[in-house]
Amino acid sequence: MINIVIFGAPGVGKGTQAQLLAEKYDFLHISTGELLRQEVALGSPLGMRAKAIMERGDLVGDDIVVPLLSRSLETRSTLPDPDAATDPWDRERNGEPHRPEGCIIDGFPRTVSQAQTLEFLFSRLHRRIDLVVAIDVQRDELVRRIHERAAISGRADDTEEVIRHRLQQYDEKTQPVLDYYRVSGLLVSVDASGEIPDTNQRLCRVIDACLNHKQQ
Ligand code: AMP
Repeated sequence: MINIVIFGAPGVGKGTQAQLLAEKYDFLHISTGELLRQEVALGSPLGMRAKAIMERGDLVGDDIVVPLLSRSLETRSTLPDPDAATDPWDRERNGEPHRPEGCIIDGFPRTVSQAQTLEFLFSRLHRRIDLVVAIDVQRDELVRRIHERAAISGRADDTEEVIRHRLQQYDEKTQPVLDYYRVSGLLVSVDASGEIPDTNQRLCRVIDACLNHKQQ
């Protein structure tokens, strides 16, 4: 079992990489951006509060995002017989109960205070974060990728002005999280300037090393 945070600026491709890694290593993949977009699509009370904030490119408040993350980490899922489950991360696969090999969290934490909250949520599950991988590209490449995604995503927060604001929010509020994890010794940086498979290979090397280390 290994628990990972994947970290990076908006548009760097962390969602894509997180999904690839979740499939390869059989991790539970939790994306707070996705959880929020689902709530918005459902028109739930949390979603209704989040919608305008997300469309502006601001960070939603912890009172919105933390309950969603906590619910996702701590709720037993869709097993046919909930009493048979002994762990909240148990899932069903091909009709059989199945326990993932860990989890990968994408989009959280985005502030130092959220990093502390994440530790608390994990400690409640008697688990901890083993690795934080920060994926990184130069700013001009980042902006190019965001524009490329904007052309196909249809996301309300992928417009020129909002993108600029999201990057500013990242610089001000999210960058300091890197120092927080650097100090705790969990941080590994991975160059994401190449194609998706290249970055994926680099990430796999980091994860394999962490898995080997844990097994020793
Ligand atoms: P993402 O899909 O990770 O780019 O997130 C899309 C949007 O959801 C962000 O621009 C924020 O408005 C909101 N969001 C996602 N995760 C968080 C978080 N951890 N804290 C605050 N807002 C978040």
